[in-house]
Amino acid sequence: MAFDREASQPLSVIVIGTGFSGLGMAVGLKQAGIESFVILERAEAVGGTWRDNHYPGCACDVQSHLYSFSFEQNPEWTRMYARQPEIKAYLQHAADKYALMPHVRFGANVVEARYDDATALWQVKTADGRVFVAQVVVSGMGGLSNPAYPKLPGIENFQGKAFHSATWDHAYDLAGKRVAVIGTGASAIQFVPQIADKVGQLDLYQRTPPWIVPKPDRPISARERRWFKRLPFLQRLFRFGIYCAMETRVLGFVLNPKLMLLVQKLALAHIARQVKDPLLRRKLTPDYTIGCKRVLISNDYYPALTKPNVEVVTDSIKEVRAHSIVTADGVERPIDTMIYGTGFAIQTMIPRGTIFGRKGLDMFDVWKEGPQAYLGAAVPGFPNLFMLMGPNTGLGHTSQVFMIESQIRYVMDCLQTMKQRKLRAVEVRAEVYDRFNENLQGQLTQTVWASGCKSWYVNESGRNTTLWPGFTFRFRSKTRHFKAAEYVLEPARVTVSA
Ligand code: NAP
Repeated sequence: MAFDREASQPLSVIVIGTGFSGLGMAVGLKQAGIESFVILERAEAVGGTWRDNHYPGCACDVQSHLYSFSFEQNPEWTRMYARQPEIKAYLQHAADKYALMPHVRFGANVVEARYDDATALWQVKTADGRVFVAQVVVSGMGGLSNPAYPKLPGIENFQGKAFHSATWDHAYDLAGKRVAVIGTGASAIQFVPQIADKVGQLDLYQRTPPWIVPKPDRPISARERRWFKRLPFLQRLFRFGIYCAMETRVLGFVLNPKLMLLVQKLALAHIARQVKDPLLRRKLTPDYTIGCKRVLISNDYYPALTKPNVEVVTDSIKEVRAHSIVTADGVERPIDTMIYGTGFAIQTMIPRGTIFGRKGLDMFDVWKEGPQAYLGAAVPGFPNLFMLMGPNTGLGHTSQVFMIESQIRYVMDCLQTMKQRKLRAVEVRAEVYDRFNENLQGQLTQTVWASGCKSWYVNESGRNTTLWPGFTFRFRSKTRHFKAAEYVLEPARVTVSA
């Protein structure tokens, strides 16, 4: 394919993605007076996961006053846990308000990023044949952007309609249909109650039951919103209160997993209250410690499962036929529609042949044992490349946006250092990266996530590559300053320019 180079001069920064990470990064650049950047977005609108996931009932399970940018507080949130359309609109609002749209290149699906040792520049190619060149690349691709499809035996024979929660087909009418839902994770528990009354029959194929606690959701009244608008400090105080409350969860997740038994009691009482049938209750009660997999929140999931047209199927799927599913016990259930609530391909986020560092080093080969990075952002051999929400920056207890903003500040501090010291490249030292990851993995072995369950947090070789084991303020303090001594510094011919 012939590639067209977009600009004759190298840019200062290429940002990839327009979710919370990409947009937040772009605001950071703007505020530092850096205008020479583009934001590459594979879709045709901004919003990342909040643009892609629009299944019925899609909402955030972290309170919106916390799950939002610190620099762009929104007094208008209409619920404690905002729903997808409101979050998507919030991100669009931020992109407009901070004049980011002129920087966005839509339909720009990155297929390759390659570092050139000679010029210390990154060359980024998109699927439609464009080439972008910049000194620094910041990836805000997110961990949950590529849907995962299960390899069900016989799936190639299925003749009905099938789609994933992340590619919901709203034009398809589910009314009266016999629907199989595969998976019972965070997405499925949100859309199942929304469709249960509409469909004719809903068979919910559950491999592992999730732990679910009540969702303390409620509308935020017009009066409260007026107060937040009039007195922004009140909203900040509210946000801080939520932040502190959420951080206390670390005590159970990380410091003393036995404390999770208290939360487990709450979850058991929730099942007991909402599910009266002992057989169904047994099916829905997990046998692993709460917190090992993501703790879910819902008030309407269990009640939906008690409806007469809903069946929770726990026998494994033996075969998919043209118009039915057969389970291991030999029962065949006819279906018209299959909906995958099977999550995302997190461990294979960066395929072979996508990111090349020094001397053609492929990120895929560096990450053979699973993704890792220094502060979730930097990898030796890949100078001037930073990831937002990279390895081990995920959270089980609070707002991801807090982590993203910590990393953005870190990258901005790095760019300032590069400018002040006239550096053309910075590359994290291998020993700093190794020590950091050894410590991290050591801490992770003590946590509830290592208490014996199978989750997407942990890869095939038993390594937790996704979560940050601790308080988020610890991560904030570690990322407060870019420490030049931790990096190999290359003096400049090209500097970061405005
Ligand atoms: P998920 O949590 O990974 O759940 C996937 C579900 O599919 C699990 O129940 C899993 O069973 C099942 N599954 C996967 N492969 C299967 C197979 N081959 N056969 C049968 N069942 C299979 O995915 P998700 O619900 O889309 O959520 C992903 C993440 O997105 C969440 O953990 C969360 O971080 C994020 N999310 C957040 C929100 C929010 O409100 N903030 C909402 C939705 C999603 P097993 O448990 O047995 O593996």
